[in-house]
Amino acid sequence: ATRRGGGDGSIRRRRVLVFPLPFQGHINPMLQLAGALHGRRGGGGGELSVTVLHTRFNAIDPSRYPELAFAEVPDGIPPDVAANGNIVDIIVALNVAMDGGESSPSFRDVLASVVAADDEGRKPRASCLIIDGNLMAAQKTAAELGLPTLVLRTGSAACLGCYLAYPALLQKGYLPPKESQLYEPVEELPPLRVRDLYYTSNANQELVRKVLGWIAETARNSNGVVINTFDELEPAELERIRRELDGDGVAIVLAVGPLHKLSPMNAGGSLHLCPDRSCIEWLDTQATGSVLYVSFGSLASLDSNEFLEVAWGLESSGQPFLWVVRPDLVKGLDKPSLPDGFERAVEGRGKVIKWAPQQEVLAHHAVGGFWTHNGWNSTLESVSEGVPMICKPQFADQMLNTRYLEAVWAVGFELVGKLERGEIKKAIKRLMVEKEGAEIRERAKELKKKMDQCLESSGSSQIAINRLVNYIISL
Ligand code: UDP
Repeated sequence: ATRRGGGDGSIRRRRVLVFPLPFQGHINPMLQLAGALHGRRGGGGGELSVTVLHTRFNAIDPSRYPELAFAEVPDGIPPDVAANGNIVDIIVALNVAMDGGESSPSFRDVLASVVAADDEGRKPRASCLIIDGNLMAAQKTAAELGLPTLVLRTGSAACLGCYLAYPALLQKGYLPPKESQLYEPVEELPPLRVRDLYYTSNANQELVRKVLGWIAETARNSNGVVINTFDELEPAELERIRRELDGDGVAIVLAVGPLHKLSPMNAGGSLHLCPDRSCIEWLDTQATGSVLYVSFGSLASLDSNEFLEVAWGLESSGQPFLWVVRPDLVKGLDKPSLPDGFERAVEGRGKVIKWAPQQEVLAHHAVGGFWTHNGWNSTLESVSEGVPMICKPQFADQMLNTRYLEAVWAVGFELVGKLERGEIKKAIKRLMVEKEGAEIRERAKELKKKMDQCLESSGSSQIAINRLVNYIISL
C-alpha cells in the first residue's frame, strides 16, 4: 500500500532516474533539476527521490552528493574519442554504444536492473527517466522497458525551436551559409540571421546535422520537455514550441529555470578542477561594479595568438578583471603560460585563476560585467545577477544566445571579428565605462527583476516545477 498508495492516505513514493550528458554545461543543470525534485512532495501527497545515471567518461563523484543515489552505466566510448573530448563525437559514440553497442553488460541490462531493483520494493518504483536532450538511444531503451521519458533541454527555448526547424532551414537553403547572406534574416525564426545558426565548416557538419535531428526526434518522442529558461524571458519561443510539440503528443512543455536558483546542487562544481575561492577575497577588495569577469566556459578554447590578444587587451583596458584560464584553454597546450611582463603590468587590478565559483562571482557586488562565450548556463547565470555581457560566441547555440542578448533583451553586445587587443580594449570601455554600458546595465537590472519574480512562490518557474512533480507522480 505504501508503494502504490495515495488514496488511503499513505505516501506515494516515486523514484525519478536522471541521465545527464557527461559535460559540465549539461551535468550542472541536470543535478540542479535532481536537487529541485529530490524530497519534493506533490499535491496528492506523493514524494520523489532521485537516482542519477552517469557514464565512466567524465564520471560524477557520488560522494559529493550524499542525498542522491547513483548508478554507473556503460558508455562504450572508444578511448581515442574520449581522449579527444570533442562533444559531437562523444554524443555520437554514446548513442551508438547505447543503441545495441557491444558493451557488456549492455546499457539495456543496466537500466533494466536499476528499474528492477526499484521494483523489488527496496526502493520506490521508478516513474520515469529524465534524459539530456542529446541521449536519444537512452529514450529508445527506456521505451523498450516501458519507462516513460522526459527530456531536459539545457539550452534556451529559442535553441530548441531552432533545432526543431533545422531540417526545414536546410531545405530552404539557408545552410550551408553563403558569405554574402550571413546577415540576412531567417524569416521563420526572428530575430535570427543566417550567421546565428549552428554550422561548422569542417567535416563535422554531417555529424552535427545528424545530432540535431536526434535532438528534435527525442523531444518529439518524449512525454514532456523541461527547459532551463523562464516564461517571461522567452514567451513567444515557448509558445511556438508548445504548439508544435503538442501536435506530436508531448504532454507537457515546462520552463523551470533558472535551475541554479531553484537548487544549489553543484554550484561552482567542476569535473576536474576545484573552484579557486581566493578570487572572492580579492573581489572583496575591489570597488563596486568595477570588475570585468572573463570566462569562456568549460569547453571553448583560443589559439595562442588569440590568447595573447585577450591578455594584452585586458591589460590595456586599464579595468580591473578576473580571468579564468583553464589548463586546456589554449589549443595544443597543457598549461598555458601568461605572456612575459603581463602579471607585473596588471598587478593589483587583474587576477587569473583556473576555475571560478562562477555563480558566486557573478553575484559579487564588485563584478560589473561579464565577458562570456555565451554558453546557456553562463548566460542565464549572468542574467540572474543582472550582470551585462560582452559576447564572444564560438559554436553550437552560442551565436544564437548572443543574438538574443543583443537584439531582444539588449543586455549585452557582441565583440565581432578577430580577437585583437585594440578592439578588446574598446569593447571593455564600452561596457564598463561609457554611457551606453550604463544603459545596458540598467536593462540587465530590469531583466533580473523579472527573473526574481518567476522564482517567487507563485512565480512561473515554481508553478512549473510543481506541475512537473505532480506529473511525474501521476505516471
Ligand atoms: N563554470 C564555473 N567556473 C568557471 C567556468 C564555468 O563554475 O570558471 C560553470 C558555469 O557557472 C556554468 C558552466 O560551468 O554553469 C558552463 O556552462 P555553459 O553552458 O556556460 O558553457 P559550456 O561549458 O557548456 O560551454
